[in-house]
Amino acid sequence: MSKKVAVVTGSNKGIGYAIVRGLCKQFEGDVYLTARKEELGQEAIKSLNSEELYPKFHQLDITDQASIDRMRDFLKNTYGGLDILVNNAGIAYKQDSIVPFAERAEVTIKTNYQGTLDLCNALFPLLRPHARVVNVSSIASNAIKKCSKEIQAKFLNFTITVDELTNLMNDFIQAAKNGDNESKGYPSSAYGMSKVGVSVLSEIQHRQLSADPREDILVNACCPGYVNTDMTLHKGHKTIDQGADTPLYLALLPPETKSPAGKFLLDREIKKWNE
Ligand code: NDP
Repeated sequence: MSKKVAVVTGSNKGIGYAIVRGLCKQFEGDVYLTARKEELGQEAIKSLNSEELYPKFHQLDITDQASIDRMRDFLKNTYGGLDILVNNAGIAYKQDSIVPFAERAEVTIKTNYQGTLDLCNALFPLLRPHARVVNVSSIASNAIKKCSKEIQAKFLNFTITVDELTNLMNDFIQAAKNGDNESKGYPSSAYGMSKVGVSVLSEIQHRQLSADPREDILVNACCPGYVNTDMTLHKGHKTIDQGADTPLYLALLPPETKSPAGKFLLDREIKKWNE
């Protein structure tokens, strides 16, 4: 049988780095630390080597289709499949950012939602039976409560498709550009809306993979909690290893686990992300 393999996006620092550290300790297979910038990835690898942990490196920018395709081809040719995918890469503009809201909306959705989706579209065909997919979302996806009732109903429609979800995300970007997002029923939170996208996407992916002939593939979303990273300007109270705990728990769910499946978790507990 081919060697098992795990991939963590955006893992040169922060929570992703700690997820790689945890997988190196607990997962029996190769672990890929990935980064959009090669030199940052290599530095992170060196740092883990000094703890006698030996992840491998592959460049991966989830907003660059050529980079995604290289990652897919590499996995296919080297391993013939994929056993763990942790979609951790993400961005957030600082609260005092002077970047116009329209640009923040477009760039944030492009990375956190569209980049995650594009990577999944490329890598899901490689998922082997018993694979685990973890989408690092956020309790910030409770931004949905600030959407109009009509928009909420669209996002929470049990039969929503990926195309319909992508259309909603694009509609939000367009409204942000037109300056009428609030009157159209969308809040002025680019990050929150991007994570609404990730949380809803996870539920759709769960439905799709439950119907897939490959057995026992689980997709779950999670919030790592408020973590001390560059993203939070180091204000978060959790260490990166504490933040990595729930993503690692989900990535390492044993074979034939029935629950959690298609859920959203915080501190290893199933929560409703939309309340
Ligand atoms: P950091 O900013 O510390 O790290 C983010 C990582 O994502 C970096 O490695 C960054 O790379 C990478 N990244 C950004 N854009 C891309 C891209 N286009 N392609 C590939 N990698 C990319 O953030 P955190 O560790 O705090 O966050 C990790 C995840 O957890 C994010 O999804 C975030 O939204 C989520 N989260 C974090 C919380 C927290 O309290 N920290 C709370 C809730 C959710 P680079 O170094 O090149 O910028």
